[in-house]
Amino acid sequence: MKEQIFSLIELQNITFEMDKLTAGRVDLPQEINRLGEELESIERELKEDEQRVEMLRADHKVKETALKNSIENIKKAKSRLLEVKTNKEYEAILKEIDTINEKNGAVEDEIIHLLEEIDRAGEDLKAKESETAGRRSTCENEIRKMEKELNSIGSELKKVLKRSDETRSRTKAGLLKKFDMIKDRKGGRAVVPVWKAVCYGCHMNIPPQMYNELQRNDKLMLCPHCERIIYWEDRNTDA
Ligand SMILES: [Zn+2]
Repeated sequence: MKEQIFSLIELQNITFEMDKLTAGRVDLPQEINRLGEELESIERELKEDEQRVEMLRADHKVKETALKNSIENIKKAKSRLLEVKTNKEYEAILKEIDTINEKNGAVEDEIIHLLEEIDRAGEDLKAKESETAGRRSTCENEIRKMEKELNSIGSELKKVLKRSDETRSRTKAGLLKKFDMIKDRKGGRAVVPVWKAVCYGCHMNIPPQMYNELQRNDKLMLCPHCERIIYWEDRNTDA
C-alpha cells in the first residue's frame, strides 16, 4: 500500500507541475508584455529629460545671440553720437543706449539663471541615464528569461506527461479512479499527509484508533472529515 500511496503522491506532484506549466502559457506572455511596456516608459522618461536639456541649450543660444546683437546696437548708437548735430538728438541716443543696456542686464541675468539650470538638468540627466541603464538591463534579462521559459513549456509538458503515464501505469486502476474522483471534487489535492493525528488537507483531528491504524500504512484510508486519501508522514525528521 505504501508504494501505491507514493505513486499517488508523485502523480499529484506531477499534476501540480502540469498546472503550473499550463498557467505559464497564459501568465508569461502577459508578464513579458508588462515588462515591455515598463521598458518603453523608462526610455520615454529618459527621452523627455534629454529633450528638456536640449530645449534649455537652444534657449541659451537664442539669448546669447540676442545679447550679442544688442551689444552691437549699442556700438552703433555710440558711433552715431559722434555725428549728431543737436542736443535733443544727442539725448535721444543716450536714452536709447540706456534702454538697451537695461534690457541687456535683464538678459544677462536670464542667461546666468539658464546656465545654472542647464548644469542641474545635465546632472539629473546623467543620474537618469545610469539609473535607466540598470533598469533596462534588469528588464531585458527578465524578458529573456521568461521567453526562454515560455519556449520550453511545450517540451517540459511532454516530459511531465510521460512521467504521468509511467506513474499511472504503476498504480492500481481502482486507486487511480478514486484519486481522480477526489482530485476533481477537491480541486487539486487528493492525497494529504497526517501528522500528530491532524489531517493536512482539512486540519481536523483523526480519531485515535484510526490514527493508530493509519500508521501501519497497510490500507487505503480516507479522512473522515474531508474525504481525501490520507497517509501517515513522520514529520519528526523535518524538525
Ligand atoms: Zn481531512
